[in-house]
Amino acid sequence: MIIILKEQPEKTQFDNLVTWLKSMNLKIHLSEGEKTTILGLVGDTSEIDPDLINALDIVEAVRRISEPYKNANRKFHPLDTVIEAGEHGESKIGGGNFGLIAGPCSVESEEQVLEIAEKVKASGAGFLRGGAFKPRTSPYSFQGMRGTGIEILLKAKQITGLPIVTEIMDMSQIELFEDVDVIQVGARNMQNFEMLKELGHIDKPILLKRGLSSTMEELLMSAEYIMAGGNEKVILCERGIRTFETATRNTLDLSIVPLLKEKTHLPVIVDPSHATGIRELVLPMAMAAAAAGADGLMIEVHNDPEHALCDGPQSLTPAQFDTVAAAVRKIRDVVSAPEGGR
Ligand code: PEP
Ligand code: MN
Repeated sequence: MIIILKEQPEKTQFDNLVTWLKSMNLKIHLSEGEKTTILGLVGDTSEIDPDLINALDIVEAVRRISEPYKNANRKFHPLDTVIEAGEHGESKIGGGNFGLIAGPCSVESEEQVLEIAEKVKASGAGFLRGGAFKPRTSPYSFQGMRGTGIEILLKAKQITGLPIVTEIMDMSQIELFEDVDVIQVGARNMQNFEMLKELGHIDKPILLKRGLSSTMEELLMSAEYIMAGGNEKVILCERGIRTFETATRNTLDLSIVPLLKEKTHLPVIVDPSHATGIRELVLPMAMAAAAAGADGLMIEVHNDPEHALCDGPQSLTPAQFDTVAAAVRKIRDVVSAPEGGR
């Protein structure tokens, strides 16, 4: 349920309303815009009589929210959420800010990461990605450099100033993520609810990738798990889903981007690398994602894709990434930037 208040609600009445709602065991999410204040109620509202609340002087309207996701719902929070990272918050995603996240699938060596980091930064990337803990289909494949991989990413951050994005696979690893800027939850862990709950108590942006066979609502409910714990900094990522089509690694569900933007205030980015698995498709799909209104892209870039330990066939060279970044900027110039709310 949401309660939309009239402009500049009288303070005593406002406080009384909030106290009463809290006494009903409801959690209140306050969203203050320029003109409207919205109280979003989380919990069992079945006992609440909307007419009673509607009769209050300070109340403009009361609406029931049918969707199961509340904190992530745009009705709770009409304005776009903007995620900021970097020393001075200079890397932003959401609310008209387009974030480019680039880097190798996995951290392989210091030289590799430093070279890629410098190059993608020069091309306009605002974030460096790199997997230290890798969710591989085979236990015999390279599993990532783990703690050493995170140290390498931190070194690249120190040198380039780029905030880093890397995946956590289990909460036992969390201590290593202390200086990581954005924690990624991979597709295979999207419904690891215990981990999502724990990440809800952390004050860091979480990049939540859509599960291989998850619906939009399941993705939003996973975001809700994180937000219910108090962490509202969630970025959603469409990375392709499993369909009958085998010509591409996954099927990029681009139509989810504008739909998600309508349903939620959270930023939505697209990963055309894992979605297609084919290097040549990254450029057209990156442009299409920008045209569809995505708030950013996550793209795999490798200095020597032929010898990459992971996902070489979908990785771009730094020069190819530069072309993609320039093309995406052109697309962004012709499609109007997403409005900061609706
Ligand atoms: C990744 O981004 O490194 C990754 C493993 O992606 P996904 O979880 O989408 O497969
Ligand atoms: Mn990869």
